[in-house]
Amino acid sequence: GPVTSPDSGALERAAEAALRPRRLAEFVGQQVVRDQLSLVLEAATARGRPPEHVLLSGPPGLGKTTLAMIIAGEIGAALRITSGPAIQHAGDLAAILSSLEEGEVLFIDEVHRLARPAEEMLYIAMEDFRVDVVVGKGVGATSIPLELPPFTVVGATTRAGLLPAPLRDRFGFVGHLDYYRASELHEVVTRSALRLDVPLDPDAAAEIAERSRGTPRIANRLLRRVRDWAQVRGSGRLDLAAARAALEVYEVDPRGLDRLDRGVLAALCTRFAGGPVGLSTLAVSVGEETETVETMVEPYLVREGFLTRTPRGRIATPMAWEHLGLAPPEPAAG
Ligand code: ATP
Repeated sequence: GPVTSPDSGALERAAEAALRPRRLAEFVGQQVVRDQLSLVLEAATARGRPPEHVLLSGPPGLGKTTLAMIIAGEIGAALRITSGPAIQHAGDLAAILSSLEEGEVLFIDEVHRLARPAEEMLYIAMEDFRVDVVVGKGVGATSIPLELPPFTVVGATTRAGLLPAPLRDRFGFVGHLDYYRASELHEVVTRSALRLDVPLDPDAAAEIAERSRGTPRIANRLLRRVRDWAQVRGSGRLDLAAARAALEVYEVDPRGLDRLDRGVLAALCTRFAGGPVGLSTLAVSVGEETETVETMVEPYLVREGFLTRTPRGRIATPMAWEHLGLAPPEPAAG
C-alpha cells in the first residue's frame, strides 16, 4: 500500500510490534484517555476485579491495538485478539467466549463489523457473563446457558457512532483517540529511532513528524523508509536531507498528503468543480472503496481544512485549490 496508508499489512505488523510501547507511561500523547484509563485500571486492580469493558474509537493507526495490549499488561492479564470481520458466525464467538479464563482481556478490533447474531451474543456475554450455546439442529436444537468467568472486552472501532446502542452501552468506559500533534509524533519517532538503534537528527524527526498525518503508525513507517534511504543512498545518518529525499521518493508532500489524498482532492476540484459531490461518487472516481476514502482519507483532509462535509456532499476548500496549485472557481454572481 502507499507509504502513508494508515492500514498495515502482515509484514509491517511485525515491524510495528517491535516499536510498541508496553506500559501506559510510555504511551505518547492522548493525555485525556491515558489519565482516564489509568484511573479505571488502578481502581479495578485495587478492588481485585477485572476492569469494566473498554471501547476505543478513532481513526486507524492511532494506537487502539497498542492500548489494548497495554491494558492487559497493566493488569497482568492474558490478552486474546480477534476482530469483527474474523468472526463469521455467532458460533465462532461462542467458542472464544466459552474458552475465556477469569480476568482475561478480549480485544475485538473493528467491533462495529460484527454480524448481528454475534453482536447480540457479545452484549449478553458482556452484561451477564453468560453465553447461550446451541446444541443440535432444527426443531431438536436446544440452547444451554453457560456461565462465564468475569473478563474484560476491549473493543476498537473507527467510529463509535457506527456501533448499535445496545452494544455501545455495555462499555463502561469509552475513550476517543484523536490525531497526534507534531510534537508528540516527534517523541514517537525519537523513541523508535532509539529502539531501532539508528541515529536520527532532531530536525529530521521534526520533518517526519510534520508529514505523518497525525498518525504514529505512519510516523514509524516513514522513519523506516528514511532509514532505508540513509542506508542505501546516504551516509547512514538520518538527517534532514535524508528525510526530505525519502519523503520525496514516497510522494509524501509537505503537508503529509500522499498520492491518494491528492487524488481525491484533485478529482473533487477538477472533475466535480469543487463539489458538492457524494462520497461514493468521489471514491469511484479515484478507483477506491467508499469505506477506504471514508475512514483513511477524508477524516484527515477534513481536519486539516482541505475538505468540508455538507449534507449535499463534499466540498473542496480554497486551501485545497491552493495546495494543488489550481485556481478556485469564481464565486457565482449574485
Ligand atoms: P488499527 O486500528 O488500524 O489496528 P491502531 O489504532 O490499533 O490501528 P496500533 O497498531 O496500536 O494502531 O499502532 C500502530 C503503530 O503506532 C504501532 O507500531 C505502535 O507502536 C505505534 N503507536 C501507536 N500509538 C502510539 C503512542 N501513543 N506512542 C508510541 N507509539 C505508538
